[in-house]
Amino acid sequence: MSDCIFCKIAIKEIPANVVYEDEYILAFYDIQPAAPSHVLIIPKEHIPSMAQVEERHKELLGHIHLAIQSIAERLGIQESGYRIVNNCGEQGGQTVHHLHFHLLGGRPMKWPPG
Ligand code: ADP
Repeated sequence: MSDCIFCKIAIKEIPANVVYEDEYILAFYDIQPAAPSHVLIIPKEHIPSMAQVEERHKELLGHIHLAIQSIAERLGIQESGYRIVNNCGEQGGQTVHHLHFHLLGGRPMKWPPG
C-alpha cells in the first residue's frame, strides 16, 4: 500500500529504530512509547488488521509470536513479563491500518485497559 506508513517503514522509505528484522517481519520502537519498553511488531506484507487475517497467514502469525519471545529477551523484559496488544478496528483503538502488535514492558501493567 503506497500510502501506508508501516509499509514505508518496512521498505526503509521512512526511518525507524529497528530492533529485529527478518524476511517476513520487522520490529521497531514506537515513537510515542506507552511504557519504558514499547516496540511494534509488523508483518512486511500489508494486512490492514486482525480482522483481515486469512488462513494463509497462520504461519506468519505464529512466526510473529515466536519472534516476540526473542525481542523481549533483547529488550531485557523476558523475565519480568510484558504485554502484547493488538488494537483492531475503530472501537479497538487502531489508528494505523497495517497489522501490528504492541510489545510493552518495563513497568507493571494494569487491567482492564482503558
Ligand atoms: P494507537 O495509535 O491508539 O496506539 P494503534 O494500535 O494503531 O493505535 O498503534 C499505532 C502506533 O503506531 C502508535 O502507538 C503510534 O505511536 C505508533 N506510530 C505511528 N507512527 C509511527 C512511526 N513513524 N514510528 C514508530 N511508531 C509509530
